[in-house]
Amino acid sequence: MSETLQNPAGQAGGTSASPAAVHGEQIVLDAVTKRYPRQASPAVDNISMTIPAGEIVMLVGPSGCGKTTTMKMINRLIEPTSGRILIGDEDVTDQNPNELRRRIGYVIQGAGLFPHMTVGENVGLVPGLLKWDKGRIRSRVDELLELVNLDPAQYRDRHPRELSGGQQQRVGVARGLASDPPVLLMDEPFGAVDPITRQRLQDELLRLQEELHKTIVFVTHDFDEAVKLGDRIAVLQVGSELVQYDTPEQILAHPANEFVEGFVGEGATLKQLTLTRVGDVELDQAAVVHIGDSPAVAADRARALGREHVIVLDERDRPQRWVSLRELQRPGALDQVRRDREVEVVSLTSTLNDALDVMLTSSHGVVLVTGPRNAYHGVIRVETIMEAMQAQQAAEPEHPATPEAPAGAPS
Ligand code: ADP
Ligand code: MG
Repeated sequence: MSETLQNPAGQAGGTSASPAAVHGEQIVLDAVTKRYPRQASPAVDNISMTIPAGEIVMLVGPSGCGKTTTMKMINRLIEPTSGRILIGDEDVTDQNPNELRRRIGYVIQGAGLFPHMTVGENVGLVPGLLKWDKGRIRSRVDELLELVNLDPAQYRDRHPRELSGGQQQRVGVARGLASDPPVLLMDEPFGAVDPITRQRLQDELLRLQEELHKTIVFVTHDFDEAVKLGDRIAVLQVGSELVQYDTPEQILAHPANEFVEGFVGEGATLKQLTLTRVGDVELDQAAVVHIGDSPAVAADRARALGREHVIVLDERDRPQRWVSLRELQRPGALDQVRRDREVEVVSLTSTLNDALDVMLTSSHGVVLVTGPRNAYHGVIRVETIMEAMQAQQAAEPEHPATPEAPAGAPS
């Protein structure tokens, strides 16, 4: 096995507080074709593309166009009929597929967890195959569960059926990351969960990626998801024909043809809301206090800002619950604050569209914004979103995709 493809986790040790900041490796598909037996036309017909190291590349296209086949050839779950695949500088087309797969994380829809194994056993599967010792596997499992926002003590020993769909999907992501692979393949991973959960999982993936810088190939048939998550989007047509491969901004502004235009769809302004991140606009501040603070001081802080509520943070600055001025009249009101499971947050990487969704479903005009490690960062107000929308409309008075004048019309 070559040096460049060695799993960096092999040297990283499993006990560090956060996983090693691995930069992913570039993937090159070079004239890759897959013909299934007894099929008239190839499922993947001569695709060539370069997936830059450390980026999220979205493969988007209609059902049956060859997305899954293309992805599975990267970790050789499917053998290409012809062509070459390079990861880093290495041609992986003739490497041992089992070893290859342990260095490439793979996450599928419905998480694909083994039902008879606990959450911990599922996550620790690949490290076990790589013969890590028990203590190291255990600490790695806990570290990963923390990373995907599942309390290890609470979830480690449960079975998948005792988890919600969104939680199972988080475990699936944790399992994909277990050996700290430079490359992560994700095949419609969030396709089977409800829209709000999907949005949270997307936000979590972006947050993870800020720390991890993996090379991620992500298959979806949802163009909004592609715009939100992708550094680049590859729009595919039947036979994995690469119709357009560019940044979301470029694809939205200049769709290559009618097929892509159809994907981009109507409502360019709403799409712009998908393109703008919460971290891109000016945020406001809430009245912030910590568990154990004096209620009187907290109330003063709220009044100074003209607010009716304070947000209570834990010792790691994670938002726990909104507390009203009235509740603050009770002595010791902040001594023991339990986390409100309903408290709505978006992250800096959430889109304005996500934030608007949360506001519309919670009917609050303000939503908390969290940054790295789910720590409080600020609040976003509905007025801010409206202003951003108006600014965008002002910036593009003429919609670029207006229909052309009918043939023969006087010019
Ligand atoms: P997508 O993931 O974009 O929906 P797939 O890669 O699953 O597309 O499939 C691409 C094409 O290859 C489809 O026409 C599908 O029917 C065909 N195909 C996929 N898997 C097989 C297989 N094992 N045997 C024969 N044909 C297959
Ligand atoms: Mg598929």
